[in-house]
Amino acid sequence: DLRTVKNFFKRNGLLTLSVISVITGCTLGFMLRGSQMSTQAKIYFSFPGELLMRMLKMLILPLITSSLMSGLSSMESKACCRMGVLTVTYYLWTTFIAVVVGIFLVIIIKPGVGTEMESNRLGGGPVMTSADALLDLIRNMVPSNLIEATFQQYKTDLIPILKVPTKTIQPNFVYVIPDDNDPKGRMVYLELTPPPDVIYKTSPGSSQQMNVLGIVIFSATMGLLLGRMGERGVPLINVCQCINECVMKIINAAVWYFPFGIIFLVAGKILDMQDPSTLGKKLGWYGVTVLTGLFVHGLVLLPLFYFLLTRKNPFSYIRGLLQALVIALATSSSSATLPITMKCLLENCHVDRQIARFVLPVGATINMDGTALYEAVAAIFIAQVNDYELDFGQLVTISITATAASIGAAGIPQAGLVTMVIVLTSVGLPPDDITLIVAIDWILDRFRTMINVLGDALAAGIIAHLCRKDFPLSWACFFLYWPNV
Ligand code: ASP
Repeated sequence: DLRTVKNFFKRNGLLTLSVISVITGCTLGFMLRGSQMSTQAKIYFSFPGELLMRMLKMLILPLITSSLMSGLSSMESKACCRMGVLTVTYYLWTTFIAVVVGIFLVIIIKPGVGTEMESNRLGGGPVMTSADALLDLIRNMVPSNLIEATFQQYKTDLIPILKVPTKTIQPNFVYVIPDDNDPKGRMVYLELTPPPDVIYKTSPGSSQQMNVLGIVIFSATMGLLLGRMGERGVPLINVCQCINECVMKIINAAVWYFPFGIIFLVAGKILDMQDPSTLGKKLGWYGVTVLTGLFVHGLVLLPLFYFLLTRKNPFSYIRGLLQALVIALATSSSSATLPITMKCLLENCHVDRQIARFVLPVGATINMDGTALYEAVAAIFIAQVNDYELDFGQLVTISITATAASIGAAGIPQAGLVTMVIVLTSVGLPPDDITLIVAIDWILDRFRTMINVLGDALAAGIIAHLCRKDFPLSWACFFLYWPNV
């Protein structure tokens, strides 16, 4: 009857609207593709979407700092320690499992075998190694200047260079034009007119990108210490709690703008998309392999872990997260989705506040199951295309470097594409071959971001359950140490 319908919309109205927006955005995007819109017109058209991204990004900094500082300040040291160890171990463990799923599938499906694919080899050039990536990760953990960390992330200069058509340029990356006199080329900004036919893409971290990891580490340390300062720490804790409440209120109001913004965000992306007819069959199979892996990991394995460890229904938990998953799909950035993930966890899934405030921001920076899975599949796909036999040792290397590369990737669009160079070079594959998979990366990115967000959110539920006092410690020990044996 009417009341049931009304109740349904009251509870699911926003979610329904968001889903409708994604569909409308896709339809609108495809309809307008034939209309030969000018670049200027496209910028105007995408403006509401740009605004949505800006709103989400605006909330990240106050949300992370206030959540971590107020959350950790009210916890006992022992509980904090237990939660920290559980969280990091769980994250490493599930990421590694995602990689294994990816390797397993790509070996069975063999999407790259027997292909005639042309890669745009550029040759030469400096290459980022696993050691460089590790150093970068540690550098980011210790920002030399906190203010700078709010708009800059450290990335080494040894960056991969990809050849990309000018029309696919995106604001998150730095682009350079090859220049014979300067090995690093000239920087290109988006306003460059007329744009060159081909430009090179480099690390996303080189552009202004918040160093979320550095801010997480600093805020967590501050939170821990504030809690130990007794009376003197209380005023600052109160301020943090106030900011946190305000941010959550802003999020609650902003979500009503999201369905509108999503339409233009999605449509704008589709307008910019390369022509699908240029994609080969093998690339299609590669996409299918990645998507199957993401599906298996996100909708079978992770829910299974959730069920085994908490004995609760994982799918009713995931239902509460749908809003965040739609935003992840629309923005392809787990950092930008963080405010909504937080809202869903607290309001729909009723996860312990203190736990969610710690587990989510950490997860959004280091836990990327979808990215790790995709990196492993992509590396082996490239090996298959090159007719390059990988032995067992190399597969192990791929599984370890893919895990590391996903931890190093920032929660921004297509960050995984760039850190994949680490995986490729670790087994002697040509890093330039990333160009083989660039064409469909933007779409795979959306789905892997969804799984990244899902992984963080399920982790929060599991850790909250495990941190309860009645959880048998023997189980926790098994859970903690098993992957390390
Ligand atoms: N876009 C992904 C995220 O934000 C990272 C990646 O795989 O590129 O989680």
